Amino acid sequence: MEQNDTLLHRGLRKRLVDGLKIKGIRDERVLEAIGRVPRHLFMESGFLNFAYKDQAFPIGAGQTISQPYTVAVQSQLLEIEKNDKVLEVGTGSGYQAAVLLEMGARVFTIERQKELYVKVQKFLPSIGYSPACFFGDGYKGLPSFAPFDKIIVTAGAPAVPADLKNQLRVGGRMVIPVGDNNKQEMNVVVRVSEDEFKTEKHGRFMFVPLLKGTVNF
Ligand code: SAH
Repeated sequence: MEQNDTLLHRGLRKRLVDGLKIKGIRDERVLEAIGRVPRHLFMESGFLNFAYKDQAFPIGAGQTISQPYTVAVQSQLLEIEKNDKVLEVGTGSGYQAAVLLEMGARVFTIERQKELYVKVQKFLPSIGYSPACFFGDGYKGLPSFAPFDKIIVTAGAPAVPADLKNQLRVGGRMVIPVGDNNKQEMNVVVRVSEDEFKTEKHGRFMFVPLLKGTVNF
């Protein structure tokens, strides 16, 4: 893939993956995907030493690349099948999108901050990942591409947005942290029938908030 993905990086990734197993991540496809995505390339070069620690990290524009454990939990809860059509709300660094692509999903990802959208749209294809990237308010989802098999929201929402529920196919799953500004509970919302939804809860997490509207630089 990339000439600056070295043996050292691969070794560090293997350790990261071993750590995620110990923390309870079981889905082999998630572990394999995290083992393949060169997370260090998603961070400013000055922070390379932090790339394979199980920590969130600043990526500019006041945003963060999610902690690998959080990425792993959300990816596992999505129960990705090959070719699933997945909507991601909150592109950020593009790391989560790359993990989903490695798992065989078709990824549509939306970001409300133009600076991040522009950066990711150039960067991801340069390392071999090509999701469909959109600039816009993910609260509204992507109605013209709906329905989705899966929806993942990577920012903390005060409540599950109705537009996103409506864009889930019957039988589809949405993984979304729900709560106030810096403490949320991971929710899995399953669309059981056209107008019936079932919600499961999967522990506490910390995300930056899901915000309305867009930011143009
Ligand atoms: N998935 C990202 C983590 C991103 S952090 C990664 O792997 O790096 C959350 C992101 O959600 C931020 O970039 C933030 O700007 C974005 N965000 C917040 N509210 C949003 C909204 N309504 N629509 C789209 N993106 C949003």
